Parts: sequence; structure tokens; C-alpha cells
Amino acid sequence: AGHIRFEDVRFGYEPEREILKGIDLEVKPGTMVAVVGPSGAGKSTLSRLLFRFYEPTGGRILIDGQDISEVSQASLRQALGIVPQDSVLFNDTIGYNIGYGRDGASQDEIEGAARGAAIHDFIAALPQGYASQVGERGLKLSGGEKQRVAIARTLLKNPPILIFDEATSALDSRTEAAIQETLRSVAARKTSVVIAHRLSTVVDADQIVVLHEGQVAERGTHAQLLRRN
Ligand code: ADP
Ligand code: ADP
Repeated sequence: AGHIRFEDVRFGYEPEREILKGIDLEVKPGTMVAVVGPSGAGKSTLSRLLFRFYEPTGGRILIDGQDISEVSQASLRQALGIVPQDSVLFNDTIGYNIGYGRDGASQDEIEGAARGAAIHDFIAALPQGYASQVGERGLKLSGGEKQRVAIARTLLKNPPILIFDEATSALDSRTEAAIQETLRSVAARKTSVVIAHRLSTVVDADQIVVLHEGQVAERGTHAQLLRRN
């Protein structure tokens, strides 16, 4: 499960202005595809179509061979785990934030998801130790730490497809590296789509798709793209 296909996908918010001009894209199960490109290239629009916030005006999007326009919102939400670029956390414990909306989740599952997202790394660095920190309210978290909590929340749902949108997140390079490390571990067996601003953040992707003005300008691995440019 977790096979994504865009077939000649076209879209415009307004009829006279096409934003996506025929996108072909395949994300094979268990692989990571990064969509990079400058601001305004159409990256967020592409992900909005995948979530069915909008319908394509041409072409189609398939998940596991099924046109998503024929898939219910409920099963689409089941299939897609989205880590938004600016995750809003509740002013509560890390455990609460990770478990939110997962009433059936046990403490073990929540902590497992937290570990999967490498949250233990920064929690372990705190004097009181992991368990107490997961349960502590009002922890001051950095942007990167918040991102990891958001990743853990999404992972707990265990969706076959993970969408990670870092398009405009203003993270420092250390945080960026840490998140890349996190992604590498969590995305290992998932189909993942990473929306990114810069090529340097998606070195490990199996395929990088460079969007430019609503079209695929280039595609390949990080090494292939570097060689060409
Ligand atoms: P990116 O994520 O690559 O920065 P976007 O997909 O956000 O690009 O935007 C692509 C183009 O679509 C831009 O020209 C942007 O102004 C336009 N756009 C984005 N969202 C909307 C919207 N809700 N209504 C109209 N135009 C939009
Ligand atoms: P992001 O790409 O980070 O999700 P937004 O969707 O808010 O951010 O905006 C992306 C781009 O689309 C920005 O350049 C923004 O100005 C533009 N945009 C967003 N909404 C509209 C809109 N309703 N009409 C025109 N442009 C829009």
C-alpha cells in the first residue's frame, strides 16, 4: 500500500490562470519523493490536491490504483498522514500532544511513537529523564522539537503515506539537519512525500522532483541533479 500517481494533473485556482500545468509523478510504495522548488512553484497546491482540498481541472491522482476523486474523505484521511509546516501544539504535555485524537492509544504506543520520532533524544538531554518530561506541561520546545512532536502524532496514526511539508519553515540549519535525520529513520518503510524549499534538505530522497512554474523542470536523485547543474 502507499502507491501514488499523478497523471497529467492540471489545476488553477482561477479559470484563466493555470498553476499546475500537467504534472506526472509516481511515488512507489516505501520510497521517499521530495518536491522542491522556489516559492510559488506550486508545491503546496500539489499537496492540497492530494488531500482533496481541491479537485484537479485535468488529469487524475491515483492512490493504490484508485482515483482519489472516488475515494471517501474518511479513507483518504486514513491513508495520508500529514505533518504540516507550522504545527500548532496544545499548551499541554508532550504525551497529550502526541496522543491527541487517539483515544484508544496506550501510553506504550504513544511513547513508541515518540521514540520513533527521535523525541527521546532531546528529552533524554533534560535532567529529569524521559518519562517525566513526556508528562510535563508547558515545556518550552524549539521549532524543531515541535516538528518532532507533530511527526510523532502523525506516526501514531500509522498511515501508509506520510506527507511532510517544510516548504516555508524557518528552521536553522542544525534543526534542519536533525529533522532530516528524524525523517530518515521514520520514513524508512513508508511512502513519503517531502515538500521542501531547498535541495540541501532532501539529500536522501529516492527521487527529487524540481517544480518550476507549475511544471516538472527536472527529476532525479540528489547526485544526478548536482551533476547536471
Ligand atoms: P509553493 O508551495 O511552491 O510556494 P503554491 O502552491 O503555494 O506554491 O502557489 C503556487 C501559485 O498559486 C502561486 O502563484 C500562488 O500565488 C498561487 N496560489 C496559492 N494558493 C492560492 C489560492 N488559495 N488562491 C489563488 N492562488 C493561489
Ligand atoms: P504555503 O505555501 O506556505 O501553504 P499559502 O498557501 O498561505 O502558504 O500561500 C502560498 C502562496 O500563495 C503565497 O504566495 C500566498 O501569497 C499565495 N496565496 C495564498 N492564498 C491566496 C489567495 N487566496 N489568492 C492569491 N494568492 C494566494
